[in-house]
Amino acid sequence: MTVATQPKTQATFRALKCKECGAEYEAQAIHVCELCFGPLEVAYDYSAIRQRVSREKIQAGPHSIWRYREFLPVTSEQPIDVGTGVTPLVQANRLARRLGLHRLYIKNDAVNMPTLSFKDRVVSVALTRARELGFSTVSCASTGNLANSTAAIAAHAGLDCCVFIPADLEAGKVMGTLIYSPTVMAVQGNYDQVNRLCSEVANTHGWGFVNINLRPYYSEGSKTLGYEVAEQLGWQLPDHIVAPLASGSLFTKIYKGFREFVEVGLVEDRAVRFSGAQAEGCSPIAQAFQEGRDFIAPVKPNTIAKSIAIGNPADGVYALDIARKTQGHIEAVTDAEIVDGIKLLAETEGIFTETAGGTTIAVLKKLVEAGKIHPDETTVVYITGNGLKTQEAVQGYVGEPLTIEPKLDSFERALERSRTLERLEWQQVLV
Ligand SMILES: *Cc1c(COP(=O)(O)O)cnc(C)c1O
Repeated sequence: MTVATQPKTQATFRALKCKECGAEYEAQAIHVCELCFGPLEVAYDYSAIRQRVSREKIQAGPHSIWRYREFLPVTSEQPIDVGTGVTPLVQANRLARRLGLHRLYIKNDAVNMPTLSFKDRVVSVALTRARELGFSTVSCASTGNLANSTAAIAAHAGLDCCVFIPADLEAGKVMGTLIYSPTVMAVQGNYDQVNRLCSEVANTHGWGFVNINLRPYYSEGSKTLGYEVAEQLGWQLPDHIVAPLASGSLFTKIYKGFREFVEVGLVEDRAVRFSGAQAEGCSPIAQAFQEGRDFIAPVKPNTIAKSIAIGNPADGVYALDIARKTQGHIEAVTDAEIVDGIKLLAETEGIFTETAGGTTIAVLKKLVEAGKIHPDETTVVYITGNGLKTQEAVQGYVGEPLTIEPKLDSFERALERSRTLERLEWQQVLV
């Protein structure tokens, strides 16, 4: 058969390949190398991709992550497309001015579809692959957003779903899962304990766990956060990116996405600096970075940034390596700084993010103040989740509505009172 007569859906991925020893495996539901226990990653045929893709074809494709399907590990003619991806890249001029930067962009996955976090990207890919591999029940170990996304997209695809979450999650995250009627297991323990339990369930039940036995496919979905930024910047890479780190997967896959676009000739090569954000209450990768270690010492999480509270991050060492070799930084911020970060983004850009986004904005501010991001660098900050899901975090840190009677004079009096208060606050700032 000649290349020209081959069907379009022929896979561009060849195999799963161990990131440590390079051993290759058939593309099944496995995630660990049998020889060295290293993590498996999808390997592609880039010369085939190069022949099939162009800027024009991508632009003419679906308004979702599936415009990049040649770079994703699925073979289905009809992948599960719930409109995930192609979120706004917002030029953040007011935040930039506040911080003293000249070219700052927010990649706003707080409005990703269908469940308002970047996890919809990874789950759309994982469940498409799960269906191809014949799974009828899908599952995950989640810090919250992944459970929302798995439950929603499984409902859309008609797959049975059972998710595992730590019992102490925010109300919005729990409701945002229950509404889709999956089975929800609230585990009395932290995420790392949930994850260990799920590894055992994956071995005994034959379910497709999106972030365990399907992890090699799942994690590829995050590459689309790299592709989209490059496309939205006019087919160019930025100078510097700042992204949150939980397991470290997202961070390493944005990097892989940029490298692939260079590899197939869609963008020119450029040295992109990769900086990562963690909460001080769960900062094993930031600690290793600061101490110059190349191993991760697991920690017990204690922070309001629950969505990124992973004490034993699976891809921590790879994230460390990328930050170091790109001259980036990995920083941690306190819970108080995280709340300030949420408020700063809301007040300057009109974007309400969750605690993970507050962490990222607070780290951005810290890096700028320390001179680690230069004012002229084109900087992209990844906002990965929506603030409506973590309202507990800002309870007590925002103003209150002015309650009035439905009468004009009641309104006028309230307005006068609030202006007086504002003036008093200003005087306090000035003295
Ligand atoms: C899961 C998650 C992350 C980070 O994910 P990793 O790929 O595990 O590093 C970041 N932000 C939000 C909101 C998340 O839910």
